[in-house]
Amino acid sequence: MLGVRVGDRRPAVGRVADAGGRLRALLIAPPGAGKGTQAQRICAHFGVADISTGDVFRREVAAGTVLGKEVASYLDRGDLVPDTLVGEVVRQEIQKALDATGGYLLDGFPRTLPQAEAAHAIAVDMGIAAHAVVTFDVPRAVLLERLMGRGTSDGRSDDTEATIRHRLEVYDAQTAPLLDFYSGQGMLVRIAADQSIDEVTKVTIAALEEAMH
Ligand code: AMP
Repeated sequence: MLGVRVGDRRPAVGRVADAGGRLRALLIAPPGAGKGTQAQRICAHFGVADISTGDVFRREVAAGTVLGKEVASYLDRGDLVPDTLVGEVVRQEIQKALDATGGYLLDGFPRTLPQAEAAHAIAVDMGIAAHAVVTFDVPRAVLLERLMGRGTSDGRSDDTEATIRHRLEVYDAQTAPLLDFYSGQGMLVRIAADQSIDEVTKVTIAALEEAMH
């Protein structure tokens, strides 16, 4: 399968014997890798809820809630929202997603090792396990080019050049190490995502279907 390496899933720690049902997956990728676009397409295909923690936080900020006021400055700087504020939000979103669709794609969570531990604890509490963790590999120069373009077209307040560079550094320091962690668990699916949007969607869906069986 073009551009896909699926790890050996046999000895996977943290997977339950019956990992059936609707898709439950995590998507971990650097800013600009196409996470949001692909998440929507993947969720439409599998009929599951798209849980984007970035979207949840942006909505809270826009609505001026207590949580929104707490997280706004982190988003503006391109820093991660503290783990303590993320875990509870995600637990609620997963429950809603399971009730509504029986599955989910977590887009942008976990982003730190404590969040990965929280993800595991939530899954254990709910008696479920993820089928796979997907990551998109995109060359750094391409990410920068896409993000700079997005800032001018979408007007996202965290898409200025300094913030973009900072978010990539944060990704390298805090989030990228999770890929080794999930690879060690045999759960990681790497997608070569420097291809057309349609091609990335096709390859990712195929890899996830394989992971579910
Ligand atoms: P995204 O839309 O995924 O690029 O996220 C936008 C911003 O939301 C990030 O730069 C963080 O400030 C915040 N954010 C989203 N997800 C998380 C997370 N799992 N942990 C901490 N901060 C997050």
